[in-house]
Amino acid sequence: MTITPSYINGEWITSNATQHTPVYNPSTGEILSQTPHSSRQEIDQAVQSAKNAFIGWSTTPVLKRATVLFRYKALLEEHFSKLVGLVVKENGKTLPEAKGDVRRGIEVVDFACGIPHLIKGETLPQIASTMDGASTYEPLGVCAGITPFNFPAMVPMWMFPLAIACGNTFVLKPSEKTPLTANRLAELAKEAGLPDRVLNVVQGAREAVDALCEHPDISAISFVGSTRVAKHVYTTGTSHGKRVQSAGGAKNVMIVMPDADPESTVRAIAGAAFGCAGQRCMAGSVVLGLEQAGQGIVDRLSDMADKFKILPTDSNPDSDMGPVIDGAARERLLNTIENLAGQGAQLASDGRRGLPNSGFFVGPTIVDHVTPDMNLARDEVFGPILSVGRPESLDEAIEWMSLSGYGNGAVIFTSNGGAAREIARKAPCGMIGVNVGVPAAISQFAFSGWNQSFFGDLHVQGMEGVRFYTRQKVVFSRWDSNYVRKLGW
Ligand code: NAD
Repeated sequence: MTITPSYINGEWITSNATQHTPVYNPSTGEILSQTPHSSRQEIDQAVQSAKNAFIGWSTTPVLKRATVLFRYKALLEEHFSKLVGLVVKENGKTLPEAKGDVRRGIEVVDFACGIPHLIKGETLPQIASTMDGASTYEPLGVCAGITPFNFPAMVPMWMFPLAIACGNTFVLKPSEKTPLTANRLAELAKEAGLPDRVLNVVQGAREAVDALCEHPDISAISFVGSTRVAKHVYTTGTSHGKRVQSAGGAKNVMIVMPDADPESTVRAIAGAAFGCAGQRCMAGSVVLGLEQAGQGIVDRLSDMADKFKILPTDSNPDSDMGPVIDGAARERLLNTIENLAGQGAQLASDGRRGLPNSGFFVGPTIVDHVTPDMNLARDEVFGPILSVGRPESLDEAIEWMSLSGYGNGAVIFTSNGGAAREIARKAPCGMIGVNVGVPAAISQFAFSGWNQSFFGDLHVQGMEGVRFYTRQKVVFSRWDSNYVRKLGW
């Protein structure tokens, strides 16, 4: 049995844990590795490792820290295909989706390479006749990152590159279901010249998360995962005096106006609903067609879904759709489809047909005539099940967006500038797409979830990311010009 190692003190370590979570190849069901549920003592070793590195790393000149990041970026590019292969293997994404996962992560490293500029403070000379004022951004100390299974490369890279660029040291706890890419990212960081102990990776599950949230030597926690755990991490971390940014689940609504371009709209909806097998926090989960748009979407999407090549992604680079993460996720989704009977909705495309014999596959599923009172309209599905609703007005469509309480994304397809502006202004979410299926923020912008999709003040990525991983110091300096003159300078 292969045990997924942790990376502590610059060394690969096998945990003594007795409990493990299997890492599957979701395309086949084969077990690739077993992730140990590391103990509190093992988590403490990783935190102490990061703590010991803090003074040296935080006083390393910022230009030198940037140099390591530039080398890291070059190495990530060099190893791009292999990293993509790892994501395909342990997560089950299709080749283009896995490329997107790694690429988006590298873009955050690109952003972090600009740290000498990003971290500059401000000065205000002569705030009094003999006094200057200045502010600087200082690192926090040891930061921890806790990540989900659905973006094994991008989400860890939302966190540690920017944290270490700012001069912090880091403990990453990847998802126990997809830890292999994270380990490879750490290996490459070492190869790029990142000093040992600056970045540590600990394997684990619930107990590891609680140990990190409660650890007195951790200053800040970045979390991405389901809302239930996001809330728990936020509450536990903040009550232990830490700064926390905690991103949760979502339910993203897409509105289609009758004047939307049919071809590009349906392509974008298919990508948003079924891309990554629906396992995205920015997945389009509900589509609302106004007037005749509803029927048009269902007809076109069902045709498209019938033609999807659903194949094991590890052996078929041309697969259109991959599996979900494990048997439990598959079971949950199949039950959701099964339980539709009697709820008044209609199955327009049944994802239980024509699936590979092994692996954890669920095909594209379209459920038409969903109404706001149904669970499908409000709960995160996290799988390839798209609900279609038929509101009578734009205002009614906007009301659907509040049903779930989440607040990641909202999308409108239209050629009407007024309707687009209405959604951009009124949708109760932080990321809006106008004729864009997945308006996920890129590295220069904050990934700005609202409501039950985010707990905290400063989001990951962009300048909010820099602010999250630093704290401000202001310095006021008084000088005595007579003294300078007396010395003859
Ligand atoms: P998850 O919440 O089950 O797990 C995320 C992390 O929390 C993992 O590292 C896991 O070990 C840990 N964890 C799980 N249960 C725990 C518990 N009871 N106590 C303490 N820690 C626990 O999420 P997942 O299934 O890996 O990922 C899918 C979820 O992540 C979806 O809800 C998705 O919307 C969300 N997500 C959100 C974003 C975003 O930016 N908002 C991005 C990606 C994924």
